Amino acid sequence: MQDSDRKSVSILGATGSVGGSTVDLLLANPERFSVEALTGGRNVARLAELARALRPEFVAIADPSCYGALKEALSGSGIEVAAGDKAVCEAAARPADWVMAAIVGCAGLLPTLTAVRRGATVALANKECLVSAGDIMMREVAAAGATLLPVDSEHNAIFQVFEQDRREAIEKIVLTASGGPFREASLVEMANKSPAEAVAHPRWDMGAKISVDSATMMNKGLEVIEAAHLFALPEDRIDVLVHPESIIHSLVAYRDGSVLAQLGTPDMRTPISYALAWPDRMPTNVRPLDLSEIATLTFSAPDMARFPALALARAALRSGGAMPAVLNAGNEIAVEGFLSGKLGFTGIAELVEEVMEAVDPAAPDTIDDVIGLDREIRAEASRRLDRRVSSGARLPDADSAIEIGAGRL
Ligand code: NAD
Ligand code: MG
Repeated sequence: MQDSDRKSVSILGATGSVGGSTVDLLLANPERFSVEALTGGRNVARLAELARALRPEFVAIADPSCYGALKEALSGSGIEVAAGDKAVCEAAARPADWVMAAIVGCAGLLPTLTAVRRGATVALANKECLVSAGDIMMREVAAAGATLLPVDSEHNAIFQVFEQDRREAIEKIVLTASGGPFREASLVEMANKSPAEAVAHPRWDMGAKISVDSATMMNKGLEVIEAAHLFALPEDRIDVLVHPESIIHSLVAYRDGSVLAQLGTPDMRTPISYALAWPDRMPTNVRPLDLSEIATLTFSAPDMARFPALALARAALRSGGAMPAVLNAGNEIAVEGFLSGKLGFTGIAELVEEVMEAVDPAAPDTIDDVIGLDREIRAEASRRLDRRVSSGARLPDADSAIEIGAGRL
């Protein structure tokens, strides 16, 4: 096959969990894809290993202090190396047909937007950028004629069964939620949970931040906001259903009583492959779904009292304006605080709520407004976090603190 027949792809956040699943699919299908650019945060060894395996034209690492080590690790490879936030955006600007947006947090906003602005097909894993800047992002997608393909498993499921041409026949969408590792824990038990317990997700192997978000169910809240933008639906037409087996990835309910769902083994390679091959489908090495082996699927309504983060996210979506960006920035600081042992598990939602109640910023009109707002709210949340620490708020076992992105990234 000629090189020009291959789809050229870039991965933003290649060294992370979604990045790794994407790499797996590329390595298994070398005849279908060529790699234009890869980015990582600060894990030089992993990024260099991926670059040697995938032979991209360009590699960027966000942490500028990693430049020398990456350059050395790739010496003689002929691969161009750069470092810093601008370099990550430069990677997104390079002419790949398809870009995986898998940087975690609001740090992914500008790189994702850079790919959108050149009209690329963007596979979107980075939900935080839609939470913080959903209206602006969706406007930019339309203006650039870009294609946004949802990779988050729930949104990818909905995308697969959402009849775009019959929107008026859709009553609501239902996002399923595993309920995370503390699905059955009491609030008192949750208050003592350590970072190591929070990141040990029962169904999915994911990055530290999203694992904590799953444990608080803030992840589902962020996903409700993400769905509102991707599918242009109001908050009251997006339901959440706890489904611990994570086999049904989400559902769409139609006015004739039909409910369409997408099912599969919980493995991110399925939604990623759907985005990679779209509108076609490609083979994966995902374990086939055997429902007779699973036998029972269970469902329940989310418990809003034990998982207040979900209610906070719904409130932020209903308020609109700056509130979703406030929620997101407050949550990013709270999760970092929890992972570094400064904040107890139940303190995460408390801190987010405190920040949401304390501020009332103007709605952002531009991406620069969003970035300024994100910075301001992070500073506010960090001040409040430090105040809690100095007032001696009770902490979980400090020995179990996990540095965010430790090791792998
Ligand atoms: P991860 O922590 O494993 O990886 C994050 C990636 O972002 C890494 O490559 C890291 O180096 C990079 N990164 C971190 N900070 C950066 C910065 N400041 N600048 C540039 N790069 C930076 O996270 P993940 O689990 O792969 O999740 C990535 C995104 O996908 C998140 O938004 C998450 O919510 C979403 N998502 C993940 C999963 C999953 O199964 N892991 C599922 C659905 C959605
Ligand atoms: Mg999800």
